[in-house]
Amino acid sequence: MVTGGAGFLGSHVCDALVGRGDAVVCVDNLSTGDAANVAHLGDHRAFTLVQGDVSRHVDVSGTVDAVIHLASPASPPDYLARPLETLAVGSEGTRRCLELAATSGARFVLASTSEVYGDPLQHPQREDYWGNVNPVGPRSVYDEAKRFAEALSSAWRRTHGVDTGIVRIFNTYGPRLRPGDGRVVSNFLMQAMSGRPLTVYGDGSQTRSLCYVSDTVAGIVALLDSELPGPVNIGNPQETTVLELARTVLALTGSCSTIVHLPLPADDPVRRRPDIALARHQLGWAPTVGLEDGLRRTAEHLAGSGAGSVPIGGDRGAR
Ligand code: NAD
Ligand code: UDP
Repeated sequence: MVTGGAGFLGSHVCDALVGRGDAVVCVDNLSTGDAANVAHLGDHRAFTLVQGDVSRHVDVSGTVDAVIHLASPASPPDYLARPLETLAVGSEGTRRCLELAATSGARFVLASTSEVYGDPLQHPQREDYWGNVNPVGPRSVYDEAKRFAEALSSAWRRTHGVDTGIVRIFNTYGPRLRPGDGRVVSNFLMQAMSGRPLTVYGDGSQTRSLCYVSDTVAGIVALLDSELPGPVNIGNPQETTVLELARTVLALTGSCSTIVHLPLPADDPVRRRPDIALARHQLGWAPTVGLEDGLRRTAEHLAGSGAGSVPIGGDRGAR
């Protein structure tokens, strides 16, 4: 079972699993995902899409040998617009998925996030760093939901012996990012391709380390296939400032767009880069797609989907 399997990352996870011969039940409430992301799997006997909210109900018939819990809004504008739903899917949704894993004897993989490190005081971030999160700020609905989900998974492992694995995913981008989802790569590419100004929040000196989706999915599947409890960081340590990213996007797309600076959102982390020694040594995993290559592939996908002419709904700083 893949929860959130009709979303950006989840749909690529479904592709990878079906592609290697696994039968997949994707459970998704389509709140931030889209059935179109998995429509190409629709004719496959090994794939089923079930529309449902895992915070309310999880019921999958047949033998379940793995639960990958990806359901959750992930883009800041998405989770800020759905604060209570985000807390619910991290807590009650995670509990229901753990219960299913426990009764089925299934491996359970939690999609956690680099956001559990908050605005990190250690750099790069290793898995043994406990983080620096504002528990009452607007981002806390996401950060604390994921921290609680990690705590819950660990408690079910200790208390009920569930075979849990926690993956801390760093910023991932690639084809099937929703054009209007408000994350930096989709915003910048859409803005560049439609000739509108690129919206850099703050002075753009904050950093992120962007991982191409095929690399992230390979890391998630490697953790699924292992017996590691984690947490394990999965991300690309190639760090860039947001301003550098804007300039890279302009150069790659050949766009004449300008750059405008808008206010920095509250509690926006200043820097972020994964230490991936654990994933390298214990999963034999490392990213393979560089930033420019990944951005080019993503731009081609957005252009091919006709998204270049779609208005962007998620320019946070502009709200
Ligand atoms: P996304 O918004 O594209 O996908 C999330 C999916 O979950 C959507 O299909 C949505 O409809 C579904 N969903 C949300 N609430 C649900 C609920 N209550 N019941 C059933 N389905 C529900 O986001 P994404 O980028 O694909 O992220 C997927 C997961 O990976 C999330 O858990 C996110 O926290 C995690 N993650 C992603 C990134 C990233 O950069 N993409 C980074 C860190 C962690
Ligand atoms: N960002 C930006 N312009 C945008 C969207 C995002 O400058 O149009 C910045 C944002 O402030 C943050 C970084 O890009 O510093 C990454 O933002 P994103 O929403 O993609 O992910 P997250 O904040 O969750 O890392």
